[in-house]
Amino acid sequence: MIIEEYEAKSLIRTSRTSLFSWSEAYLNPYQGCFHDCKYCDGKSESYYMHDDFANRIKVKINAPQLLEQYLKKKGFFPSKREKTSTLVDFFPSLRDSASSNQLGKFVLFIGGGVCDVYQPAEKEVKMTRKLLQIAYDYKFPVFFLTKNHLILRDLDLLKKINEESYACASFTITLDDEKEQKIFEPKASTSHERFEAIEILREEGIHSGIYFYPTLPFIGDTDENINAIYRTAKDVGAEFVYCWGLTLKPGRNKNEFMNTVKEHFPDLYPKYELLYSNNNKYGNLDNEKFKEMGLIWPEIKGYKKGYELEIDYTAKRYIPEGRIRTNLKISELLHRIEYIKRFFVKSSKFEIRELNQTANILNTYTKDLLEINKLERSKLSLGKTTVPYIEEYLKEKKSVLLKNLEEKAFKDVCEYLNRIEKI
Ligand code: SF4
Repeated sequence: MIIEEYEAKSLIRTSRTSLFSWSEAYLNPYQGCFHDCKYCDGKSESYYMHDDFANRIKVKINAPQLLEQYLKKKGFFPSKREKTSTLVDFFPSLRDSASSNQLGKFVLFIGGGVCDVYQPAEKEVKMTRKLLQIAYDYKFPVFFLTKNHLILRDLDLLKKINEESYACASFTITLDDEKEQKIFEPKASTSHERFEAIEILREEGIHSGIYFYPTLPFIGDTDENINAIYRTAKDVGAEFVYCWGLTLKPGRNKNEFMNTVKEHFPDLYPKYELLYSNNNKYGNLDNEKFKEMGLIWPEIKGYKKGYELEIDYTAKRYIPEGRIRTNLKISELLHRIEYIKRFFVKSSKFEIRELNQTANILNTYTKDLLEINKLERSKLSLGKTTVPYIEEYLKEKKSVLLKNLEEKAFKDVCEYLNRIEKI
């Protein structure tokens, strides 16, 4: 492993929230990842990463400065820091002004992007820890997604942040069988170590869950693997399991994965070749081939298992300081309904689009929906199909409609799987 330092021009990428992540700011101090997963999307040419992605790890040496610059530009101050070189040294009253920032805070996704922030280089460089320290100084909530139990090194900071706001340390876990896991994720912590880390984090009160992603067709989507992952998730106290399939972008990403399959699972190679023969630029598999091969979407199997074990299908949304709770909770609700309707309950494309658009509008809407009357609300450009969900939530502060929808989705999924089994 070669570690190279460089000065980056920028660090933060903003994005809309979704069921995948409730964060709005993504930052990653690394380029390249020593874990060398064979399905790694980050190896795709579309991200313009260097060729020897798995061996040459580039570190954005000025990442802490870039993060501070970004937060200060947004009007936040390091209220936790004893000594600073900012205005707060001269005007201590500014220390509490973070909460007066009109836009409010947001969850920092440290590790968002395509490289693992707790990969082995972090042991030496400690750049992720520096960013975490800044999040603590500025009292910002954080979210992590990693495949390395090195994150436990920073338990002290995670605990302190979680006590004041929110810290979630989640893990990607794709294969229960260690031999298979080592083939596809050769240098990451073992799945067992990751489960163990979740147990420790949960015992310490830190939020934690699993990204069962990518679920590898024929290998990771077997009943055996799915049951093992959900069962162990339950045992260690994971709060959610987010399940998603495999994409293979043409080029390095697909070639490397296919070579691994050829070497270790030669019988499966022709099946994969067929399934991804469309060379879709986003890496999506060929739907027609998928149906012809009688495959079942991993999201369906995962949803059923999660529902049975009472494990959520995504992380609960944390509402950062200074944000409008009602609006963000309704936005979460609409994203959840969108997910259920998109995958499990037949709905029109129009309705799904409206759910998504309204969820996004509410993220930045500056008036609390609770503080405007029904007539005023009807004048907002909130999609008509979303109105019953919004009105119910405003009245009850919960959503029975979502609960019913989730139950219906579970029944539909069970019926569908029973039907398939009989064929
Ligand atoms: S841990 Fe993530 S970024 Fe690193 S090689 Fe694996 S898939 Fe790629």
